[in-house]
Amino acid sequence: MTLDHIKSLDQQHFMEVYTGRYPVCFSHGEGCQLTDIDGKTYTDFMAGIAVNALGYNHPALTKAVCDKASTMMHCSNLFYVREQAELVKKLCGLSFADRVFLTNSGSEANEGAIKLARRYFSKQGIKRHKVITLTNSFHGRTFAMVAATGQVKYQKVYEPLCQGFLNVPAGDMEALAKAIDHETCAIMMELIQGEGGVMPMDPGYVQAIRELCDDHGILLIFDEVQTGIGRTGKLFGYENYDVTPDIMTLAKALGGGVPVGALLSSEKASAFTPGDHGTTFGGNPLACAAALAVFDTIEKEDLLTNCQAVGANLGERLESLVQKHSIAQYAQGMGLMWGLKIVDSVPIMPIILGMLDQGFIIGPSGHNTLRFVPPLIITIPNVDHMIDALDHQLTKQEWKS
Ligand SMILES: *Cc1c(COP(=O)(O)O)cnc(C)c1O
Repeated sequence: MTLDHIKSLDQQHFMEVYTGRYPVCFSHGEGCQLTDIDGKTYTDFMAGIAVNALGYNHPALTKAVCDKASTMMHCSNLFYVREQAELVKKLCGLSFADRVFLTNSGSEANEGAIKLARRYFSKQGIKRHKVITLTNSFHGRTFAMVAATGQVKYQKVYEPLCQGFLNVPAGDMEALAKAIDHETCAIMMELIQGEGGVMPMDPGYVQAIRELCDDHGILLIFDEVQTGIGRTGKLFGYENYDVTPDIMTLAKALGGGVPVGALLSSEKASAFTPGDHGTTFGGNPLACAAALAVFDTIEKEDLLTNCQAVGANLGERLESLVQKHSIAQYAQGMGLMWGLKIVDSVPIMPIILGMLDQGFIIGPSGHNTLRFVPPLIITIPNVDHMIDALDHQLTKQEWKS
């Protein structure tokens, strides 16, 4: 099948939500390289939006998934599931959490987090149902998460929205304190806003939010769907902040490409009682085996150290582009999660397409920002080559503007 044929089938029959797709169709990958159906290779700095943490065809992950596919992919949660038991034990051992619920996606994990926060109070006979989130955030596309997400562009056409969510400006402690009332049950936030332009939160702000939650006896939820699983140079983003949440959600990189999400909580906050929540697919043996292989590989290959070292290099190199090019405003990020803000007058699409042309995959984020979230196995030579290409693209756009 040619790209044109695939494109025309997609344009005729896929719902028109991804109309801006890039004109490439990949067939397979190896390490940090992807190959398209015409045989052209690319170095991947997007990892399927922070999903493919081990790159492509990692032997340990491929083996874990193939083994499970040949024995048992799915098993109902009516039964005990060995891989699930191993994974929840692993997640609790590695994080603040005492209990875990497994899902298939980030949105679902977040939905579970909201239900859990409400349940925490309803179990005590207290009427508290409101959740405060931050502007510019992204928490997913399900109906409740559209209301949680603090960006009007995702909400407008679906009004009236799901009730019980309140968005306050990110970084504004006073607004947050004012927004809390006797009906507030939780604050939910990302530590680095991934879709909102790769915006890291200030540590002082995050610590103040923890104190505010404690003062009011409400729960703090960290949406680590994008920042979790080594992305920031620590296994979980909160480890960079010296702040522990009551509830945390994970997904994207958790299965290294196999869909799986998780809802984690402290013993105190784990208020679900039998029948309160459930899922058909969540926590199936295949997904759990994939997640176990991801954790195992991060540890065996010391990928957190690689993430810190290569990430620091990536940050420095992006900063050097900011110094050199007037259209590049600033670079910000942590570990292997970086954004490069381009002046609003210069569209980023031609830069992304130009990079594809040169064999590099980079992504967009909010506020005219280029996003870099490569596999955690990326190397410094990979970064050097990508930066050279980006340097060229920025020069080209500068000429045009
Ligand atoms: C991607 C993302 C989600 C949504 O995850 P899905 O798997 O697409 O439902 C939620 N929160 C954050 C921070 C994300 O980056």
